[in-house]
Amino acid sequence: MRVLCKCGSRAIISRSEAVTDDCANLLCSCTDPECGHTFVSPLGYKHSLAQSALDTAATVPVVNGSRVTCGCGERAVITKTNRLSNDCADLYYLCKNPACGHKFVMSLYYSHSLSPSSKTTNELAVALVKALTPNQRQNLQQQMSLF
Ligand SMILES: [Zn+2]
Ligand SMILES: [Zn+2]
Repeated sequence: MRVLCKCGSRAIISRSEAVTDDCANLLCSCTDPECGHTFVSPLGYKHSLAQSALDTAATVPVVNGSRVTCGCGERAVITKTNRLSNDCADLYYLCKNPACGHKFVMSLYYSHSLSPSSKTTNELAVALVKALTPNQRQNLQQQMSLF
């Protein structure tokens, strides 16, 4: 599964916390050392595309870490990723069990930051300084020199 940071770099899933059986919070961190953004992306079951051919009521997939298991107990693999926006994607899964054939959609969202991207912090700081009047800038410089 690919998770992207807001800066466009790949993010790795460092941990996952189960919310419910079919939903988990993925703790992701950006692979770009200059960014360092860590954030939470919930992965949750959306709906089925093709019902399981197995005669089982347990067709709702189970999220186990970054792995998704079909309700029949077999691993499911991603066949397609549909990026809806920068912070939301639909993941299309197919059960590996040929007798099952369950196809379903999981949603991966961006929820919130755990530690902000230093890129955005920098941009924010630069934007703030730019917005200051020359006097305020001088004040800021004097205050900064105290550190
Ligand atoms: Zn990043
Ligand atoms: Zn299955």
